[in-house]
Amino acid sequence: MNLENDYGSLNLFIFPLAGTQILSMSKIKTLSPDVVAKIAAGEVVERPASVVKELLENALDAGSASAKVEVQGAGRKLIRVTDDGEGMTGEEAIQALQRHTTSKIESLEDLFSLRTFGFRGEALASIAAVSRLKITTRKEGKLSGTEVRVEGGTLSDTTEMGCPLGTSVEVRDLFFNVPARLKFLKSQGTELGHISEILAKTALANPQARFQLFHEGKLLANYPLRQDPSARLVEALGEEVDGKIFPFRLQQGELRAEGFAGEPGLNRPNSRGIYLFVNRRPVRDRLLTHATLEGYRNVIPKDRYPVAVLLVEVPPPDVDVNVHPGKWEVKFANSETVHRLVIQAVRGMLEETPWLKIKGIPQFEEIRERPTAYLPQGKPISLPLSWPASLRVESKGESQETGRGPVSGITFLGQVQETYLVFASPEGLLLLDQHAAHERVLLEKLSNDLFHGGIPKQPLLLPEVIELPSNESRILEEHLGDLARMGFDLERGGIRSFWVKSVPQILADRDPLETLRETIKEIYSWGKEGQLQNSYDSLLKMMACHAAIQAHRPMEKEEARALWEDLQNCRFPSHCPHGRPTQLRLSPFELEKMFGRR
Ligand code: ADP
Ligand code: MG
Repeated sequence: MNLENDYGSLNLFIFPLAGTQILSMSKIKTLSPDVVAKIAAGEVVERPASVVKELLENALDAGSASAKVEVQGAGRKLIRVTDDGEGMTGEEAIQALQRHTTSKIESLEDLFSLRTFGFRGEALASIAAVSRLKITTRKEGKLSGTEVRVEGGTLSDTTEMGCPLGTSVEVRDLFFNVPARLKFLKSQGTELGHISEILAKTALANPQARFQLFHEGKLLANYPLRQDPSARLVEALGEEVDGKIFPFRLQQGELRAEGFAGEPGLNRPNSRGIYLFVNRRPVRDRLLTHATLEGYRNVIPKDRYPVAVLLVEVPPPDVDVNVHPGKWEVKFANSETVHRLVIQAVRGMLEETPWLKIKGIPQFEEIRERPTAYLPQGKPISLPLSWPASLRVESKGESQETGRGPVSGITFLGQVQETYLVFASPEGLLLLDQHAAHERVLLEKLSNDLFHGGIPKQPLLLPEVIELPSNESRILEEHLGDLARMGFDLERGGIRSFWVKSVPQILADRDPLETLRETIKEIYSWGKEGQLQNSYDSLLKMMACHAAIQAHRPMEKEEARALWEDLQNCRFPSHCPHGRPTQLRLSPFELEKMFGRR
């Protein structure tokens, strides 16, 4: 008999042992039902907010149009959720309190056509195991309702009584019988914060219902029914998002990514402003967080996070929600498609720059004269015909024609502190930070060049030599191909020296070797497992920064106009690669307000 490979035999071998004396002497013991219940409860009920989450989900699954949450002692003393859903009969209420009892699925397959938040049938049992719980409920069509009381998992009382339609679940003295858990609870403020967060998430994903949160009798959060979904955004995310968060929606087959994303300036030091939902279920998901951040790549500052509400709709067969009892995690059958769709959806909103729209973006008339380009050091010079085109960003591809076409009526007024360009337009006053704007233009041009085969090079008539520390020169040897794509052709000269044969065109009049040295340092820091895509990105940003026109540099009218135009043709014109704004706009309305005309 092969015990390792033949499970049938293995079973036959084990079962005769059950019940024999050997088991009772064993170090392995069966846990008591009470301990099992508390361990299982621990997975579902981590803190008061988990109770609120489960009870709200039950209310929504019961078809409620409104749910009221009342708490005392930040949820330790009391949590009561009252809904106007379908209710339960007395018998159902008692059944609902047992572990693994649910009205929402019958078989495992049902998990893949799930339309409800609940399915595990263990929330009420878990909560009841670690609190003093009371359910008051009446089902439609029934004259009287039922009250059921459970204490630490033991049914203590059931009574028939009159009560409103729907269900009210009251949870008192949470963790009264699990003191270890009580110790892990944080301050009242923190626990209340978690509860408010659950309310906000539930309200954001369920605009069809009303929600209220009371603490010690005081109304803490109110989510009435609203026609306009963005009104609920302000209620859930705070006044600061008002007017700064914009809708997006992208569909691919049955897959949909939609929601609201903040303008880049609305950023935070942590990712708590990113709200993720899959089929309206709030989730914590690295893939979706990553995709959202990818959407904002090179538009917001490093180490800052956007504010966004992302709702992903996936056909139920393509998502597994049964990953953890807390139901915070999901697995996608096709995670790459989801990832890509979310990035595109978010970037779509950012490309549109809706927060910059005063009334359509004003642009220059077709520029008839040749614009000049901005060369470092010295005066702007007129350039050969082909040059401005190469300075232009063509990354918008086909959409360029339909994109922001030139519009008349914009005038360059001048420069402030040789750093800011001032324009007048019928739509108001426009200010450009010349360095930030040019950096954005160049970054997009460089990315585009790199994508299409490589950054244009300028051969050096007399190759230059650079000497490197031996550790850097070893790593560099492996990345000569990467450097060539970046515009630097290098050839080994000696043990630690390289011949530089060409440099990127846009740096030709700068100090390209300085940029090269920094580039090599950056490549060295990638190490062996460096993610190439992200790393290129930091190289391009550095190069754009070095090549961009600096602040405190005079600019001619035509240069300024060309820069404005180029910026409008960028995919992400509003912010520089480091996340600083490239432009500020004062609408006539704002001007009038400032001058007291309104
Ligand atoms: P699940 O939600 O996973 O089914 P629960 O333990 O949360 O498990 O609830 C068990 C059952 O109790 C539900 O399937 C539902 O039928 C019933 N139930 C719970 N809460 C409510 C409610 N507020 N209104 C109506 N029925 C409810
Ligand atoms: Mg439930």
